[in-house]
Amino acid sequence: MSAFDGRSAVRDGRSAAASARPGRRMSPGALLTLIGTGAATAAALGFIGAPTPMRLDIPLIAHLAGLLAGYGVVVMVALMSRVPALERGVGADRMARWHGWGGRLVIALILIHGIAATIGWMQLRGLDALSAMVEVIGLPWIGAATVASVMLLGIGYASMRAARRKLGYENWHLIHLATYVAIGLSFPHELAGPDLAGIPVFQVFWSLLYTISFGLLLRYRVLEPLLQFLRHRMRVERVVTEADGVTSIVIRGRHLPELQAESGQFFRWRFLTRTGWRAANPFSLSAPPSEHHLRLTVKAVGESTRAIQTMKVGTRVFAEGPYGAMTEHRRTGSGVLLIAGGVGITPMRALFESLDIDGDQLTLLYRASNEAEIIFRDELEEIAIHRGAHLIYVLGPSADPANAMSGRNLAGWVPDLADRDVYMCASPRFSEAARAGLREAGVSASRVHQEEFAF
Ligand SMILES: Cc1cc2nc3c(=O)[nH]c(=O)nc-3n(C[C@H](O)[C@H](O)[C@H](O)COP(=O)(O)OP(=O)(O)OC[C@H]3O[C@@H](n4cnc5c(N)ncnc54)[C@H](O)[C@@H]3O)c2cc1C
Repeated sequence: MSAFDGRSAVRDGRSAAASARPGRRMSPGALLTLIGTGAATAAALGFIGAPTPMRLDIPLIAHLAGLLAGYGVVVMVALMSRVPALERGVGADRMARWHGWGGRLVIALILIHGIAATIGWMQLRGLDALSAMVEVIGLPWIGAATVASVMLLGIGYASMRAARRKLGYENWHLIHLATYVAIGLSFPHELAGPDLAGIPVFQVFWSLLYTISFGLLLRYRVLEPLLQFLRHRMRVERVVTEADGVTSIVIRGRHLPELQAESGQFFRWRFLTRTGWRAANPFSLSAPPSEHHLRLTVKAVGESTRAIQTMKVGTRVFAEGPYGAMTEHRRTGSGVLLIAGGVGITPMRALFESLDIDGDQLTLLYRASNEAEIIFRDELEEIAIHRGAHLIYVLGPSADPANAMSGRNLAGWVPDLADRDVYMCASPRFSEAARAGLREAGVSASRVHQEEFAF
């Protein structure tokens, strides 16, 4: 039963997650093992083709770096393909971080490959660097691969934090799409290069890797969202002002339990208005999903989120998801502390209602600047009473030591903290302070499950 008032997205009574079979999940450890095994196999192709006796010389370094860079591209694409088992098990934020680190590694490997290949050619042909470079670029498919490398360097630069902030999310995303063109340009060189050329088994294996990762991308980023759009026919049913600049959108759709969405997860939402269709912004579910409704709650911070505040009832919605691993599934014990900072309350609000534990083992700690900024106050208090759960507001200036997320304060608010799982959603700065406080209070990092509203 829902402890929610008339605005509830769950007033149908039955939780969608409860009526759906749990989706498959791959753990972060299993994914890393798979990636590592693939990397070892890719490197083995370089060793197999190397002349004997084997020496780690410049040509071998060029081959290994090239193979690992090519394999790295496959991994980068797969990490961003939004495969549900990875989204649920590993989590979108963690994969985005791995994608960021992996992208830098791939670019470094491409540079090593290019430099080592040129030095190898200089040694082989007795040429100076410039002449060797000109000759190498003139070899079949290497011109296109060089253009691809320059493009990837540019995309890597655009993805650096400062450049990305200047560009804005949508422009950065558009530039990032050029990665696919770069991959297309470099692929013939990979097949025609010295490691794979003339060995059909290797070429088929390599092509399969690319086909699988692009197949996953096409399936989960294009086809599934389109099919979902047609099947679930989501529309805005209600628009509710929660606080100044914060609005809830209740969406009605058909067959929603098939989505297997859970509290703690998010979707990428596209509102099909004249201008809104262009942006797909991530927003968490702010209430447990139900048979016919989903609810999101949006704080106005920029162009898209401001437009959402005045969304018209009846607007069609294109939703991609559910994504995110900060769900009930992560829980390792029977006690939970939920920590919410500001608008980070949205997924915590949903978990506060739906976590399957005794109310007296559940505490929500909600940090807001002042009373006026508290969102869902009535709902939270109703849930707390209904479940017998604990609700703690921490209000007031950050400079006040009484409001700090220190180990001492946290342990004072929740005395059995060290035995609890902690779910947290807040700004990066707040999360960092809270993580340090939790460590100090004896909570192991493996029991802290968190989402930041930034990739
Ligand atoms: C997993 C996740 C869950 C979130 N849940 C909520 C929520 O429940 N309620 C809420 O109010 N906010 C939530 N956010 C934040 C919200 O997505 C951004 O505030 C919103 O996208 C900003 O869009 P804008 O055009 O209004 O602002 P802009 O000024 O264009 O963007 C502000 C910042 O938001 C981020 N951003 C913008 N567009 C996107 C995008 N398409 N994808 C990813 N990041 C983007 C960028 O870091 C950007 O710098 C969530 C974010 C993430 C990553």
